[in-house]
Amino acid sequence: MDNNNKNKDPNHNRQGWGIILITTLLVTFMVMGLYSMMQGSGPEQISYDKFLSLIDEGDVQEVSLNSDRIYITLTDEARQEEYQETGRTGNPGNVWSQLQDQMQSGSSTEEESQRDPDYYTGYVNDYTLVDKLEKAGVEFGSKPADTMGQTLLELFLTVILPIGLMALMLVWLMRKMTKGGGVMGIGKSNAKMYMEKETGVTFQDVAGEDEAKESLQEVVDFLHNPGKYSGIGAKLPKGALLVGPPGTGKTLLAKAVAGEAKVPFFSLSGSAFVEMYVGVGASRVRDLFKQAQQQAPCIVFIDEIDAIGKTRDSSLGGNDEREQTLNQLLAEMDGFDTNKGLLILAATNRPEILDPALLRPGRFDRRIIVDKPDLKGRVEILKVHAKDVRMDESVDLEAIALATSGAVGSDLANMINEAAINAVKHGRQVVSQKDLFEAVEVVLVGKEKKDRIMSKEERQIVSYHEVGHALVTALQKNTEPVQKITIVPRTMGALGYVMQTPEEEKFLNTKKELEAMIVVALGGRAAEEIVFDTVTTGAANDIEQATKIARAMITQYGMSERFGLMGLESIQNRYLDGRAVLNCGDATAGEIDEEVMKMLKGAYAEAKKLLAENREALDKIAAFLIEKETITGKEFMKIFREVKGIPEPDETEESSAAEREGRIVMKDGE
Ligand code: ADP
Repeated sequence: MDNNNKNKDPNHNRQGWGIILITTLLVTFMVMGLYSMMQGSGPEQISYDKFLSLIDEGDVQEVSLNSDRIYITLTDEARQEEYQETGRTGNPGNVWSQLQDQMQSGSSTEEESQRDPDYYTGYVNDYTLVDKLEKAGVEFGSKPADTMGQTLLELFLTVILPIGLMALMLVWLMRKMTKGGGVMGIGKSNAKMYMEKETGVTFQDVAGEDEAKESLQEVVDFLHNPGKYSGIGAKLPKGALLVGPPGTGKTLLAKAVAGEAKVPFFSLSGSAFVEMYVGVGASRVRDLFKQAQQQAPCIVFIDEIDAIGKTRDSSLGGNDEREQTLNQLLAEMDGFDTNKGLLILAATNRPEILDPALLRPGRFDRRIIVDKPDLKGRVEILKVHAKDVRMDESVDLEAIALATSGAVGSDLANMINEAAINAVKHGRQVVSQKDLFEAVEVVLVGKEKKDRIMSKEERQIVSYHEVGHALVTALQKNTEPVQKITIVPRTMGALGYVMQTPEEEKFLNTKKELEAMIVVALGGRAAEEIVFDTVTTGAANDIEQATKIARAMITQYGMSERFGLMGLESIQNRYLDGRAVLNCGDATAGEIDEEVMKMLKGAYAEAKKLLAENREALDKIAAFLIEKETITGKEFMKIFREVKGIPEPDETEESSAAEREGRIVMKDGE
């Protein structure tokens, strides 16, 4: 269930802002309108001088004195006269006076007949005024209460009403946004949290990770029978850390734990905690634990925990927000009661950078390794995903598994899907082994690049280059048999490639095998030089690979005489790119480079020697490849044997190697 989608909807936010804008405009217009109506056609201002002359002429009926104004009401006759002169259309009174009239209605008939003042003038400190008014027989008095009323009403309409409306609107808006964890709800962890009441995933859906499943089975039991463990005094685990490369099924395993234990599954990514604002992450952690405890028993899965769990360092420029978030997480993990059945699972592919405090007993103290699957694991994963796909009898999942050494669960799932799509594309109802192999190639080297038209010369060079690799492979011991040679370019940069098949899965490589691999990798370049007496850019990938192997032999595997068993490099990010970092001084680094160079030179000379001795086979196979574009390992070996005069081997023995298709060991890039 996705709590978040509706809040992420940009239209929703836009609508909110639209409403605010329209309401603000309406309120402003309303207030402006009321105010101008209030001003209405009220009394007109006249000079004090004119006021005095009006008194002298006996035109004033009544005067009301205010603290800063004097309101003048004319006699009926004077009024008519004045209005005729000035063209004023009577005195309809303003909103204020109308309201006032209404407020006062019913008080007395005399007051009802009372007219509104016609003029007003500023108050002047004229102590003779009272005398003058008395002499002229003008009624006078003061109206403080009315002024007060007017001021209050004015205040209400111009200040209190708009502010009140705005405040109401703000409250409404905040509530709306906070509810979904939008702009105002930044502290809410449900901003990016997903909750599934029942995942429906079981351990059967996760193939190949037997050790991980076994460890997690225990955890499921904790959730099922917490009493069994707490009864004896055992503390239940609070968290487990799933460690492994991407795509190996860590999320799937966490879901399976929830599915097996039949408890709700909360999941969110570590990066979802960390925000620009300090303190937001911490408040999200608090909120997450609060929610999870309410739902317990349940599983909370934090993916990519390294985003918040990185080692805190004291150096300058540390990330305050991340540290606060981590501290909060540690505090919450210490605080919650395991007997309720709350379990935190976290996944990472960089366990080495996690803060030691996270891995302490009572926190993520269980580390469950979810590594790349081995051959058996790959077969099982393929079976799990092939269950729902119709396949014909040609399909041999074991052969696919053999060809996909190093692939993880998500790659394999993807391959099965690609194969099914390929079958549909060709109008077939079932998936065949060919579709599966095509899918393997698509995942590993990309799709065929049909629009790339190579010139005749280029095709020739690529062809010799690939046959160079293949021939060096066949001419050496300790290599994997050739399965396929092609000069059809692929989208991931290969202009051609040779596929090799391991006869069985290997966990170790001998020194001889590694040396042979280097010679094979350089075989392409050697063929170019022998045949065309020039070299091309096509060998870049081979050179990189050969150098990597040679370097690792010297620095990591202790396979050079010069350095012996000295460990010169260590591997970082084992579950990601496996980058190596040198552990030696500059002088030694220089010596390592020399040794690598020596090794590569030797291997290149060996490749050139092998090819020069077998020039006829090289030419014949290359010509055949140019014609066919793709040839199988069998076709390759047939020509090779013919040229060399080697008899055909026992059919069964040969098929064991060549029928299986192989891992791609070299790509020849542009
Ligand atoms: P991770 O969390 O380790 O990056 P995921 O659990 O998200 O990997 O795996 C992605 C997908 O790959 C899964 O949904 C599943 O289809 C497939 N997959 C990965 N590992 C396995 C496995 N061991 N068994 C079956 N399917 C797997």
